[in-house]
Amino acid sequence: MIIKHRYALDTNRKIIKILQKRNIEYNIESGILIFTIEEDNQYFDEISNQVKIKSIVSKEFSRKELDEASWYSVRSIWTVGYPLPEDEYIEATFDQNRYCLNCRSNQFQINSYIIKPFEWKTRFFCTLFWQDRVLMVSAKCLSILKESQILGYTEKPVLNKKKEEYDDIIQILPNELIDGIDYDASRIEYIWACPVCGTKKYFPPKGQLTIHKEAFNNINSDYLSTVTQFGKYGSNRINIISKKLYDTIIRNNLDKNLEIEPIKII
Ligand SMILES: [Zn+2]
Repeated sequence: MIIKHRYALDTNRKIIKILQKRNIEYNIESGILIFTIEEDNQYFDEISNQVKIKSIVSKEFSRKELDEASWYSVRSIWTVGYPLPEDEYIEATFDQNRYCLNCRSNQFQINSYIIKPFEWKTRFFCTLFWQDRVLMVSAKCLSILKESQILGYTEKPVLNKKKEEYDDIIQILPNELIDGIDYDASRIEYIWACPVCGTKKYFPPKGQLTIHKEAFNNINSDYLSTVTQFGKYGSNRINIISKKLYDTIIRNNLDKNLEIEPIKII
């Protein structure tokens, strides 16, 4: 696994001099200095201490690391729009007895999302703004999941503004949640506990998501999401897929706009 940090900051001569001296490539676009540095670069600490802003972290895994894993996290990097109505969708979509008005956590979906139409073109998975754990699939993708006997999800219709079901957009909603994340090994930082509902919130993992193997003992699903909720507000859980679902995605070339990372099991 290679962890990359991308920085974007106001052009700064002192930082540019360091980057030049350390042979690190950079760009300046409209006055913004942009560069990426790998975490195992010997100058990473020196440079990150100088920059003093948060980086955008991305992880790269080798084909071997991906092929040898048994579970994976998955996320769509294609976002098609906002849930509607923009100011009322939380009340309209989730179980009102369970979510917290203060921190917006514990969103358990009971109703369908309403979204504007879009074209899949050559894609198979998408997500929504503000709800980035949601996965929606095309009808073709859903039929491949069914043929492959993928288990553990509910097919949820997706509606247009007139509350009619789309034929070609279906949400797949995981039925099971999984606990057992090792926070230290995953490099997950604690943010806060909501004073109203007590839910603890975390930053997304900076390292490889690591889960204790016992957590999978009674799991029969190929598609799950974490008990742990990420981000200060909202209810973002990480979606997890089995080797069987991963293989189905790869074999059928469905991974075009998915970010898939192997999970470390300890
Ligand atoms: Zn709360």
